[in-house]
Amino acid sequence: MAGPPLASELDFQYRNGGLHFPHLGLWMDPHHPVRTGEWVVVSHAHSDHTARHSAVILTEPTRRLMRSRISGTRAERVLEFNECLHQSDLESSTTQTPFGLSLHPAGHILGSAMARLEVNGDSLLYTGDFKLREGQSCERCEPVHARTLVMETTYGRPRYIFPPTEEVLASVLHFCRTSLDAGITPVLISYSLGKAQEILISLLKANLPIQLHASSARLTEIYADLGYQFPRWTLLDPETARGHVIITPTARPLLSAQPGMGPLRIASLSGWALDRRWPTTNENQPRFALSDHADFPDLVRFVKEVRPQRVFTLHGFAADFARHLRRQGMEAYALSEDDQLELSL
Ligand SMILES: [Zn+2]
Repeated sequence: MAGPPLASELDFQYRNGGLHFPHLGLWMDPHHPVRTGEWVVVSHAHSDHTARHSAVILTEPTRRLMRSRISGTRAERVLEFNECLHQSDLESSTTQTPFGLSLHPAGHILGSAMARLEVNGDSLLYTGDFKLREGQSCERCEPVHARTLVMETTYGRPRYIFPPTEEVLASVLHFCRTSLDAGITPVLISYSLGKAQEILISLLKANLPIQLHASSARLTEIYADLGYQFPRWTLLDPETARGHVIITPTARPLLSAQPGMGPLRIASLSGWALDRRWPTTNENQPRFALSDHADFPDLVRFVKEVRPQRVFTLHGFAADFARHLRRQGMEAYALSEDDQLELSL
């Protein structure tokens, strides 16, 4: 772990992309399956934050989304947002150390949670992925105070400033309409979990014919079960896809159906659209900066709202963002990029 030891029950190690709290018998978001009897907090159901663990703590939407993506059985402890779970409430805990654990909305995708730990009056907040901009397909982020903050910093460089989400979604709608008017099928390449549902909701009033890739469709049905409203859509079928707005994580089934599909206009939706070096298959391919992560100004704002004494950064430009915080006079260390040489303790 970069930085000094915490020397408390909140001691943690950064391992396999996640945090391990050996004194508490807890993990947060490890990439590898944990089957040691220790409990794993799953912050949200994206595949880089889940694995075949034997015992998980998570929100109800994450439980349902995770079940649809990872088969098998596991012990599940579902927490409401802001509910406090005590170590003594946890069946088969591997520790005797009393702690409190609560989950708070992260605003990243439906059910995404930040985890706050409290031990002996000391506290730590782990963000998982988060964003402060409000989305229509997930809960609004609620920063809470902690003495130590462990945060994701995917877009931790000042150049990453996202345009307002409504503006981006209005441009996506314009792209779809003008393509269809020109007899061209618009294809929106986006993650099947989170972004596909955000786009879909933004098309609610547009009254356009829509086809969804099967992986997005399955997850969208869970959102609908949980009360979210979507426009009418049908399953992606290359035979009938012509003239529809296509929402899919990959254009492959459409490209292999050519020339029958007719002309396609393929657009990508990602925060990396701000990056000129972001690879696309075609230089002229439209790209929209729609992201489910915080941009740089929101990372800064988030730290201000949490008011930590010490920050650990991980994912993306972790070293850059830790350096930025140190320049502001904060104690900050990168976990996922080595900035040991720049530490001034
Ligand atoms: Zn995520």
